[in-house]
Order: sequence, then C-alpha cells, then structure tokens
Amino acid sequence: MKTLTILKPDDWHLHLREGLVLKNIIHFTSEYFGRAIVMPNTKNPITSIDKAIAYKKLITEALPKSSNFQPLMTIYLTDETDKEELINGFKNNVIFAAKLYPANATTNSSHGVKKIANLYEVFESMQESGMPLLIHGEVTDSEVDVFDREEVFIDRELQPIIKTFPKLKIVLEHITTSYAVDFVQEKNIGATITPHHLHINRNAMFFGGLNSDFYCLPVAKRENNRLALRKAATSGKECFFLGTDSAPHLRKWKAFCGCAGIFNSPVALESYLTVFEEENALDNFEKFASLNGPNFYNLSPNKEKLKLVSKSNKIVEFIDVIEEKDIVEQIKPFHAGETLNWQVEGIVN
Ligand SMILES: [Zn+2]
Repeated sequence: MKTLTILKPDDWHLHLREGLVLKNIIHFTSEYFGRAIVMPNTKNPITSIDKAIAYKKLITEALPKSSNFQPLMTIYLTDETDKEELINGFKNNVIFAAKLYPANATTNSSHGVKKIANLYEVFESMQESGMPLLIHGEVTDSEVDVFDREEVFIDRELQPIIKTFPKLKIVLEHITTSYAVDFVQEKNIGATITPHHLHINRNAMFFGGLNSDFYCLPVAKRENNRLALRKAATSGKECFFLGTDSAPHLRKWKAFCGCAGIFNSPVALESYLTVFEEENALDNFEKFASLNGPNFYNLSPNKEKLKLVSKSNKIVEFIDVIEEKDIVEQIKPFHAGETLNWQVEGIVN
C-alpha cells in the first residue's frame, strides 16, 4: 500500500461560519490542519478588532478539547475601514491579514468595497507594516461576464495595486484561470488553489440539469483553465499553496437557493492527493500543503506529521448537522458518493 508522510498541512483560506454549522464542521479542519486563515464574511462580517476577537472565541470554544489548531483571523475591508485600528490589530497579533471583497462578489459580501481606490491609504499602511492583503479577485459589474471577472479584475484593479504598492504582501485567493496562474508567477505574489477548481470545469454546473452542488465563486471556468491550475498546484512552485475555500451551506439553502460555495473540508486532503497522484507529482504535495504557505507568510512549518495512505475511500453523501443529538440538517460534501483513492490515516510521531 502506498503511503505518504508530510508535515501537518495548513489551510490558507477557509470559511467556518458561525453557530451550529461552525460547531459541526470545525473538527474536519482542526483534526488534520495546524492552522487556517478564517475568512471574515460571516453573516455579520468581521469588520473590527472586537468582532475578530469575539469570533475567534466562538471558534476556539467550538474546537474539540485538546486541539492545538490555530485559527488565524482576518478583517473584512470596507469603505469605512479604520487603518489605525487595522494595523494595531495586526501588530498586536489579533488579526493576521485583511480581506478585500469587491462589493457583492460572493456570500455575505454586500458590505465589500465599492471603490478600491478609496482603500489606497489603507494599503499604504499595510505595506509599511507587512500586513498581508488577501484578495477575492473578481469585478462585480453586471456588464462583465461572470466567467471573465477574474481576468478583468487582474487588469483593472490588481495591476494598479501592485504597481502602486510593490512591496505589499498580496495573495490572490482561489484562482481559477490560466491568466491568473501566469500573473501570479510574473508578479511574485501568492495564490491559493482550491480542490474543486482542480477537479471540475464549468460543465459540472450544467450536468444533469442546473446543478448548484458545483456552483461556487469564483465559478469554475473552461477546461484549459482547470489544466493550468493543476499544473500550477502540482508544480511545487513557492507561490502556490493550499487554500480549500471550503464553504458549507445547509442543504435546504444550497438546494433551493443555489448559494455559492462548495464544502470540501471533510475530503480536502484526499481530493488534492487524487490530483497530485494523477499528475505524477506526489513528491510535491508537501510543498503545496505544508511548506509554501508558511514560507510565504514567514511562519515556521508545523512540527507534527500526517500520514496519508492510498486506499479506497467512499465519500458520504451528506454530513449531518447535529443539535443535542438530533440530526437537524445536512450539508453535502464535495465528492459526495464518489470513491477516492486516498485516506488520511492520522498524526504520526
Ligand atoms: Zn472564500
């Protein structure tokens, strides 16, 4: 049986939600990942230091006892962000990074930034202090086709940001296009890549009728883009690292309203490993999952090790959401009903 032992990975882009969902899903991440950057687009977005502290407390309380998982908190940039407060929070290690959502780009982002140029003073302070800027890179104008929004964002917004702030530490999150793959390498910024963008192209959303299970933002693109992402993720290059963008939605909302987001944290490592094996790049998996991210963020890699084994792994159709022993809802995981060839065995010494 093939096995792989790597330093414990981190998830550099994660949605943990709040309340019951948070309590039911956090263990999928905390069990096998050392750290995760927690996205701030909760229902009531994390726009201040006090909110970040309160959210971190909720997360910590939801963790299984004895867990040493570290949530890294982010602040949601708005037109009203106070740069002094932001930098203070960063310098005092309360927040790890700031997240830029163009207004209405994705789930709970209606508070996002309407005019990015208004944030240039904030970016200036972030550049000075070394605070990372994490970007949801899509324009939101209705006249720009949903499949083109990443490319247009790169040309219209990201180019000028990088030109004005060449030392600002930037991560283009959940990239979906070959255009982004090339841009990230050329400009020496970082990028996270999700498991689902390595597996599906845009056809998945239209297979067997409109299928919201595969609807996420940014949406999956054409096949040539998926292939470019697979090449990038498995290349071992330092600028590309693991960020699941796991985004759970209760079944009732996902099925009826088709909200954007794919819940992959229960199968993320297995899903990535499948791709690395198919690309004959298992040797590079530790770089992508456990080394490139800490290196980019100037952190030490985790010390513990995780053992992964190649064996048949049937993925459940639904994950139950439990409240006081009753199943009250369900969430569909990525790869539901499929059989993958990898499984996490656990932490080893
Ligand atoms: Zn996200």
